[in-house]
Order: sequence, then structure tokens, then C-alpha cells
Amino acid sequence: MVIDAIGFARAGQALDGVARTDHFARLCEALPESQDGEIRWRVQGRADAPTGRAWLDVDAQGPVRVICQRCLEPFSLPLRVSSTLGLVETQAQLDALDALEAEGQGPEIEHLVAEQRFDVEGLVEDELILVLPYAPRHDVCPGGGDEPESPRRPSPFAVLERFGKD
Ligand SMILES: [Zn+2]
Repeated sequence: MVIDAIGFARAGQALDGVARTDHFARLCEALPESQDGEIRWRVQGRADAPTGRAWLDVDAQGPVRVICQRCLEPFSLPLRVSSTLGLVETQAQLDALDALEAEGQGPEIEHLVAEQRFDVEGLVEDELILVLPYAPRHDVCPGGGDEPESPRRPSPFAVLERFGKD
């Protein structure tokens, strides 16, 4: 789905959809196969007429299958995105904002260049990737108790303590 991002925002338009998780190929690159969930998403444009500033609000949610990095079993993790992105019209404007940000004076939200052929689902996918945890884990691993984590190693402090006693 392609929009003219600035026109979309200034007209206050919105788009929504439901897509299978495996439709988002870049999101799934780092995930196990067999992604059978669905992601619901919505992109709402808005603008401030006097200043000409424009934004896209991105909301998305749905489960992804991930591998628990503690017990190595797959589980379903709910992802939720709720973010606002500012639009600028040119790369030069974006570079100017980045320069301000480097000085700690940038805007608090991310900005991007509002292309005339702007890929809405690509934006949703970018935001999903941002909230995907680097090392997902069960809150409580099934199978309980014994966690087959790396073999127990004495902590370096325990080792030092023993040296002290010798
Ligand atoms: Zn686990």
C-alpha cells in the first residue's frame, strides 16, 4: 500500500489492515519459521495547518513466534507498537534535524522523509522491528525449576574468595 505521505497527513487520512505475520519478511528474518499470527495495524495522518507540520501515528499489534533465549522453546510474544513519526519533505531537512539531535536539541520523536510513494506497510514493519526484543524470554519458562542455561559456573567473586582463603 503506497501513499503520498504529506498529502495523506494533511488530509487527516487513515489506513488500516490485517496482515499475516509472515507477510513482513524483514521482521521474520530473525524469527523461527511457521509464523501463523496476524498483525493488525493502523496508520493515521495528521497535520497542523498553521505551521505545516505533519505526522503519522502508527499503531500495530499482534503475536510473533519467538525462541525463548533462556529455555530455547518457541513461544508466542505479543508485539505492540504505538508511535508517532514526524514528516519532513526533503533529506536536507532530515539531515538538519539529525544535526540538531547530535547536539541534544533535536525533536523528541523520530522524523522521516515523506516520500510521494510512501510504503505504509513498510513503515509498520519498521516499527514492529523496533519493538521486537533482542533476546525474548518467557516470563516463567515452562518445565519449571531447572533452567538449562549455560552450565553453572562459579561467579568470579566466589573464585576470588576461595583464593583469599588459601
Ligand atoms: Zn523459556
